[in-house]
Amino acid sequence: MSDKLLFTPGPLTTSLTVKQAMLRDLGSRDHEFIALVRSIRSSLIALAEVGQESGYDCVIMQGAGTFGIETVISSAIAKDGHLLLLVNGAYGKRMAQMARIHGIRHDVLECAENEVPSVDALNDFLNANPSVTHIAAVHCETTTGILNPIQDYGAVVARHGKHYFVDAMSSFGGIPIDMRACHIDFLVSSSNKCIEGVPGFSFILASKAALLECEGRARSLSLDLFAQWKGLENDGQFRFTPPTHALLAYHQAISELHDEGGVEGRAARYAANHAALSAGMASLGFEEYLPKEKQTHIITTFRYPKSERFDFKEFYDRLNDRGLAIYPGKLTQGDCFRIGNIGRIYVAQVAQLVAAIREVKAEMGF
Ligand SMILES: *Cc1c(COP(=O)(O)O)cnc(C)c1O
Repeated sequence: MSDKLLFTPGPLTTSLTVKQAMLRDLGSRDHEFIALVRSIRSSLIALAEVGQESGYDCVIMQGAGTFGIETVISSAIAKDGHLLLLVNGAYGKRMAQMARIHGIRHDVLECAENEVPSVDALNDFLNANPSVTHIAAVHCETTTGILNPIQDYGAVVARHGKHYFVDAMSSFGGIPIDMRACHIDFLVSSSNKCIEGVPGFSFILASKAALLECEGRARSLSLDLFAQWKGLENDGQFRFTPPTHALLAYHQAISELHDEGGVEGRAARYAANHAALSAGMASLGFEEYLPKEKQTHIITTFRYPKSERFDFKEFYDRLNDRGLAIYPGKLTQGDCFRIGNIGRIYVAQVAQLVAAIREVKAEMGF
């Protein structure tokens, strides 16, 4: 196998066995497929430390992660609802764009990309604006790799009796999350992030009470959260063509997550990857964008070296020629690039990347 190693925020490098699980053709009405979907849904609920019996459910939605986010934004908020967004990066901003497109009343509490939105500011905003019905936050803001305090926000949201939505796209499966302890009503992640499946769908974990309230609120036919949930509940089927191969791969990916010791085990591997990367890059003189205490182990942002000889495109291409894919920056301010620590990558592959960066640095002379 000569595929490049992907040090990106997704799609990610996956195991051979996950890819092999797709070498089948299953019909969408096949009993085996319906059972597989049920099993994936209940595994995902369990990964959030909750259960179907305790009032939570999982709705799978076709498409990229963004489709899952838009499903919640466009299905959960009533016509007269009011959404507050906590924003410190591109993914938070994208949710504001969705609210705008769907004509949803919304406000944004925004801070710099190297800061976390303040819990006190959230509390003050809710005191001053009782009309707010829903609050949305991003867990790991993949723009930088910063970790936002979703449990602290959740405590404030619950105290005010509001609904709480978390984009945990890049963290779910790679950082432990207890949905109930965080008071989360809706959580979204996707198939090609920390559970290490292939792209094809997103999923919404939600309390059943919150799902029931979505009836009649959808602003689109295909991204209707309530209808999708009812379809899966009634006969176990999707309303429209399901990504059968991606689901077969995911079933295998979940079993490999369990083999690794669940979310804790996976988090330990990613943390080791991050530590190796961080130490290796520091030894080469690269500076991290975030202070250590705000940085989590999902993805790391590095500043461009100050040298005139550094050119990101050339740097990227030289690494790419060596079979290593890194990721450009997405900051509104400051020239940076990113290196992901997630996917089927171990410390040995991180060492390989650092060694290649050392060579490329010497070749380019920065
Ligand atoms: C990857 C990611 C998304 C978007 O996922 P797509 O599959 O690219 O649509 C949204 N939010 C966060 C935090 C992400 O990391």
